[in-house]
Amino acid sequence: MTTQVSKATEELKGTIKGRILVPGDPEYDEARQIWNAMIDRRPAVIAQCANPADIAPVIAFARRNKLELSIRGAGHNIAGNALCDGGVTIDFSNMKNVRVDAAKRRAFVEPGATLADLDKATQAHGLATPVGINSTTGIAGLTLGGGFGWLTRQYGLTIDNLVSVDVTTADGKQIQASEKENADLFWAIRGGGGNFGVVTRFEFQLFPVGPEIVAGLIVFPFAQAKQILTQYRQFVKSAPEELNVWVVLRKAPPLPFLPESVHGKEVVVLPIFYSGAKAEAEKLIAPLRAFGTAHGEHIGAQPYVEWQKAFDPLLTPGARNYWKSHNFTELNDGALSAIVEFAGKLPSPQCEIFIGLIAGAQNRVAPNAMAYAHRDAKFVLNVHGRWDDANDDRKCIAWAREFFDASAPFASAGSYVNFMTAEEGDRVAAAYGSNYDRLVEIKKRHDPENIFHLNQNIKP
Ligand SMILES: Cc1cc2nc3c(=O)[nH]c(=O)nc-3n(C[C@H](O)[C@H](O)[C@H](O)COP(=O)(O)OP(=O)(O)OC[C@H]3O[C@@H](n4cnc5c(N)ncnc54)[C@H](O)[C@@H]3O)c2cc1C
Repeated sequence: MTTQVSKATEELKGTIKGRILVPGDPEYDEARQIWNAMIDRRPAVIAQCANPADIAPVIAFARRNKLELSIRGAGHNIAGNALCDGGVTIDFSNMKNVRVDAAKRRAFVEPGATLADLDKATQAHGLATPVGINSTTGIAGLTLGGGFGWLTRQYGLTIDNLVSVDVTTADGKQIQASEKENADLFWAIRGGGGNFGVVTRFEFQLFPVGPEIVAGLIVFPFAQAKQILTQYRQFVKSAPEELNVWVVLRKAPPLPFLPESVHGKEVVVLPIFYSGAKAEAEKLIAPLRAFGTAHGEHIGAQPYVEWQKAFDPLLTPGARNYWKSHNFTELNDGALSAIVEFAGKLPSPQCEIFIGLIAGAQNRVAPNAMAYAHRDAKFVLNVHGRWDDANDDRKCIAWAREFFDASAPFASAGSYVNFMTAEEGDRVAAAYGSNYDRLVEIKKRHDPENIFHLNQNIKP
């Protein structure tokens, strides 16, 4: 850091209520950890903001000193854009409050909140809104890119349930955006990531959910993969939207309901979630068992908040991760063959291929209703390369890329910005499809200097 920037940093400390961390501070190294251990960046300044009024001085500081600016929600983004090297990171880890207005079925959420923070607060009232499947993920990044999870079939994407936001723009103005106010900006923010400003409050609509739902796993031998997948694609065509079934192909973790001989072997897992009437669950789930001869299963009524954490132990921070993702409108034979081929050569015990089912409410939203464009997608397929040793980087990344290429001919045009790595900037225009030109126009108006560029960037 230059002496000039160092002096300016001292001044910044006096202008915001939150904390400023710089290299050498005892908390600095912890504050620059994010989920993906492949990212090792060292911001010159980490501004742990305390309230919305702290944001404008930090943006002005970055601009005055010509420093890059990044924004950190809960730091889960695979691309690592939450951090910058040598610039300023706005860090929301001290702004995690969630307020619920149960009567109006609304949640007001600060940008450092995780999905667990939101679910806990809303489920205290038997309410929820669709979010992702790993509870430590940040609500901010997830929402700004779209957001899907177990409730998406029934209630749409996270952005489909976003009612309003408070935003601080590149010129430091604090404004609100909703369908009625700054409607263009609200349109862009719903899918356009952090390209348009710093969101300091999200307002979501909520739905009655649980508090108990029926959920769990059925685990089949990998040798039956083709027959499971073929029946799965047929089954989900007519399954009610309260029922969501995904597919995960990986090596079996040591789950207590599986025989020890299966641990570490390739398996096909059907994670099942049902939020309808409990009495109906068994009848709906029974056909899934007949897909093959299962190694074991664990399904039952449980609190929604617990199921939301069910995958956390497999997705802890600190591992090395590399993802590649496609959307699919259907799973044709070619796609299934590629999935089975690459799930048969997993390069590490933690690598997996998952198929997330998102067919339902979100398909009924017009593709130009908001920035997120690909309303035809029924499945999101993610190849999740995950390993611990840097020596395995090459083989794990190569596996993910080769699978991505092999499955590309069967994928639909869209892709999900929240699953894109830092090197995939060339996929951004395709990710927004016919909405891209309008996004560029809005970017020119709200951030002509591209201050907010550490994201899947829409260039002004
Ligand atoms: C283990 C795991 C599981 C996941 N599961 C799902 C899933 O089920 N469904 C799903 O949809 N996604 C899922 N994701 C993807 C997830 O949605 C993205 O990684 C998302 O970006 C995470 O948000 P974050 O706040 O934690 O990330 P961060 O890395 O903190 O932020 C990501 C980006 O969002 C922008 N941003 C963050 N906060 C703000 C703000 N307040 N204002 C403006 N811009 C901001 C910035 O550009 C930042 O670089 C998963 C990710 C992981 C790691």
